[in-house]
Amino acid sequence: MRPTYSVKNEIFDPFAQESEVRAYCRRMPAVLDHAINAELWDENGNRYIDFLSACGAMNYGHNNRTLKAELIDFLQNDGVAAALDLHTVQKRKLLAAFRETVMRPRGLDYKIQFPGPTGTNAVEAAIKLSRKVTGRQSIVAFSNGFHGMTMGALALTGNQAARRAAGVPLPNVHRLPFEGYRDASAAELLRYETLVNDPSGGCDAPAAFIVETVQGEGGLNVASNAWLQSLAAVASRMGSLLIVDDIQAGCGRSGTFFSFERAGIRPDIVCLSKSISGYGLPMSLVLIKPDLDHWSPGEHNGTFRGNTLAFVTACAALSFWRQPSFVAGIEERSHIVSRWLHQISARNPEQLSHRGIGLMQGISFSDPDCARRVATRAFNNGILIETCGPRGEVLKIMPPLTIELEILSEGLDKLRYAVEREVSIHASAIAA
Ligand SMILES: *Cc1c(COP(=O)(O)O)cnc(C)c1O
Repeated sequence: MRPTYSVKNEIFDPFAQESEVRAYCRRMPAVLDHAINAELWDENGNRYIDFLSACGAMNYGHNNRTLKAELIDFLQNDGVAAALDLHTVQKRKLLAAFRETVMRPRGLDYKIQFPGPTGTNAVEAAIKLSRKVTGRQSIVAFSNGFHGMTMGALALTGNQAARRAAGVPLPNVHRLPFEGYRDASAAELLRYETLVNDPSGGCDAPAAFIVETVQGEGGLNVASNAWLQSLAAVASRMGSLLIVDDIQAGCGRSGTFFSFERAGIRPDIVCLSKSISGYGLPMSLVLIKPDLDHWSPGEHNGTFRGNTLAFVTACAALSFWRQPSFVAGIEERSHIVSRWLHQISARNPEQLSHRGIGLMQGISFSDPDCARRVATRAFNNGILIETCGPRGEVLKIMPPLTIELEILSEGLDKLRYAVEREVSIHASAIAA
């Protein structure tokens, strides 16, 4: 039998109508009303500092003034909001801006596919294309990887609970340990290559390797430049494609526009979503090396591939990447977070360790319950923040890249209080 308070909830709480699948709102039950940059307010006027950024979909902050002005202009001028993949003035402008602002300065050349507007759809497109190009079936994915929730992408995702929900086998994926997983290194990549090359090794060459250079949901695990370079070399020797899932780590989150820039690698396919529209509007992109664009017309179709509102804000968001002060601002903020994390983890080295890079850093707790309690305490103290990692043991600090410095320090101060309270409570509980 259900407890009475739950019955009451169902009568008085209209949100109880929402399916049990709801997740974030369970731990952070505020009813949000409005937001500006890194601050949100609920309907009772309580203020929250955003250390969540909609899981990396709000890198440029809420209601970014520049983006909003362009969006309002587009609406005032009766722009074509849903255009399938018909040509629009806004799509042309976006393609040109992407070439000039992102690709040309980095010496990159990619064709651009507009898939359905979610990250998982970009991943589906990337793996379908890899299989088509190579005529091979399996995809190598890594331990603790997260690539989305639709069947193809779910097969690549490590999380067991999410995988079980599929209800059917999720085949044609070969799992390798990500760098650092129980001390795994490039040696595991080379051993896999040996198995594939061995006439009796029992492994077929894969269509592609898919990797996050920093595992966002998997616990802020950072692949080293050397490991990423080995991965690119192994993939290339096997005739397999290298797909970088930059859905979370891309668009500046790891410090540079693409997360793989630091390693100097050139993936065959790149998936972008989350902050590519810059305004929280659904949009995703698949970047494809020109000679691999083997799609036939309409082969990966989708109704909402022409979300012009998202194209307008995406184009405006790219303008920030032409401003050196914006890029320097990410570095400055990353540095502040690193320093803070270094201090806090140095004080409790048995319980806390520092994870991540750029503005996707956090603390791994030896006790996952402690991480969750810190997140809840921080929420009650006005911070939106989540945990990640296989057991929810990593507290993930993801403010907008544009967070005001005073608000960043205010948020970190509140978070320090929450960590110190919970860690000392935990320590005294163990002692008792
Ligand atoms: C969020 C995410 C996805 C899935 O994107 P959705 O828009 O939720 O489908 C895929 N890969 C990574 C790395 C992500 O962080």
